[in-house]
Amino acid sequence: MIPAIATVCLSGSLPEKLRAIADAGFSDVEIFENDLIAYHGSPSDVRKLCADLGLNIITVQPFRDFEGYDEPRRGKTFDRAERKFDLLQTLGADLLFVCSSVSPEANGGIERLAADFHELGERAAKRGLRAGFEALAWGRFVNDYRDAWEIVRRAAHPSVGLILDSFHILSRGTELDSIATIPADRVFFVQIADAPKLNLDYLSWSRHWRCMPGQGELNLAAFMDALAAMNYRGATSLEIFNDRFRAGSARSVAIDGHRSLIALIDDASKRAKRPLGRINALPERPTVESVEFIEFAVDETERHNFIDLLHGLGFQLTGKHRSKDVILFSQGDIRIVVNSDKEGFAHSYNMSHGTSVCAMALRVSDALTTLARGEALLEEPYAGAIGPGELSLPAVRGLGGSLIYFVDDKSELSRWSEVDFEPVVEETKSAGLLSIDHISQTMQYEEMLTWLLYYTTLLKTAKLPAQAVMDPGGVVQSQVIEAGVTDNRGGLRLVLNGSQSHRTLSSRFVTEFFGSGVQHIAFETADIIATMETLARNGVAILAIPENYYDDLNAKLEFDDTTLAKLKRLNIMFDRDTNGIFFQAYTQTLPGGWFFEIVQRSDYKGYGAPNAAIRLVAQARLVGPDTLPRR
Ligand code: MG
Ligand code: MG
Repeated sequence: MIPAIATVCLSGSLPEKLRAIADAGFSDVEIFENDLIAYHGSPSDVRKLCADLGLNIITVQPFRDFEGYDEPRRGKTFDRAERKFDLLQTLGADLLFVCSSVSPEANGGIERLAADFHELGERAAKRGLRAGFEALAWGRFVNDYRDAWEIVRRAAHPSVGLILDSFHILSRGTELDSIATIPADRVFFVQIADAPKLNLDYLSWSRHWRCMPGQGELNLAAFMDALAAMNYRGATSLEIFNDRFRAGSARSVAIDGHRSLIALIDDASKRAKRPLGRINALPERPTVESVEFIEFAVDETERHNFIDLLHGLGFQLTGKHRSKDVILFSQGDIRIVVNSDKEGFAHSYNMSHGTSVCAMALRVSDALTTLARGEALLEEPYAGAIGPGELSLPAVRGLGGSLIYFVDDKSELSRWSEVDFEPVVEETKSAGLLSIDHISQTMQYEEMLTWLLYYTTLLKTAKLPAQAVMDPGGVVQSQVIEAGVTDNRGGLRLVLNGSQSHRTLSSRFVTEFFGSGVQHIAFETADIIATMETLARNGVAILAIPENYYDDLNAKLEFDDTTLAKLKRLNIMFDRDTNGIFFQAYTQTLPGGWFFEIVQRSDYKGYGAPNAAIRLVAQARLVGPDTLPRR
């Protein structure tokens, strides 16, 4: 399979789009007709531009409403096709892209449509061209690839073939097994798009909500497996109509597109156990075992308060760096590195972002393979040999310029704390925090799909359906990604948040403070009441939850009066899903806009989404309507 992309995916003028496509590493492109029409240059100029960029033009798409007309309309339509053949020849492309008719004046009937395509094939063959037929999900008579294939088969012309588009097939839930019964040489072209599952008419769904493979919820893996079974060797081209991409940067959308397609073809190759595409095989996706540590960049002035807070949360100082101004705190399986060194990455991160999470380390199945995969896939893959200590940990650049380090059990890397830190014994009473439950990252709404793709292509992940959470200032989109979570434990759970309204706390976190980054970290306890009692005794400032919340909870008859009173006093919120129950509480928001969360879960799979709106109102009330307190 040859990775390709349609110009319709990107924003900008045609030359801008083509440049972004070539820069992202594509060699093949389909040109959307409107892009050509809107371009001030001639088709010959476009051909030269593509040649200069090393791009092969596959087709100009689409050619609409071709089949099923009576005369004289039929004859005129063939004249239209001849003019399109002229254009294709000027551009140096050889494929006419016909999508199934939606014209109210057209007729159905398989024999009749096959006859139209036979004649089109005759005319195309005279010029050494070909014609392909795509069933639109909303086509009037043909909306199923199996019917389109029957027409192509009956057209019985070597210059007429089938075009498959994953969206049109998967959106309708059409079975995929029949794909493998079609000879590969009769499929002239394949288009690829993912999409979230929505209850929309096919046309609106397709025109606004298509997205890159891995960003949506369609079963593209099954589609790719069907192409592999057929032994398809041609182009697989991204055709993504998406309002966010049309408003975004052409460059970054093209890079995301290339990354998503390479990962899609590579995953299918690995399942098929043979190379399916004109791509270099990627290193295996790593399994995430756990979050090894979180590194905070903290400057001298804030260090004292930050350490006070860690002590209040029951963390113990367990290590002092052998040569740098870096200390290590631990509790249960949680490790927090506080980096106040005057040199290095954490320092420069702190200069631009203030006290914040500058890095996280993941324990993975194989750190060096993970790095190699990152180098092959990511735009800015390698951050160099850096780490909080002497031991240089392999790292990739992540959200907002932060780093993700990788450690594993295969090498010295897992001994980072012994190598770099002198052990310290400090008498601090634990608050019962056991592990990192989840990490929430906040970003621009426009970046969300990019970062979703970042994690889903780099690591072995599962994603939950996206959710909308109500903030007093607007809607926040929330997307959960889980990697290596087994039996509701371990691995990495990430919550990505982004908002289009600049009045939401999410947006204000991004714009008023320091850009995209970690907004909260949730720690798990086995006894949230005991933990919150300890935090209260230690003087940790906790986010106050409104009384009404507990009146409402009382009405749900979940708790006896004593327990309810404790939850209320300790500002603990509650939720239940079909699997289990969940408790959560939050520290007050710290300078920099971030906070910690304490959770207790038993078999509960979610993140307390029903309580998020209450939490956001409580936080908004504290920070006031206009500006958040600045550092
Ligand atoms: Mg299409
Ligand atoms: Mg949370």
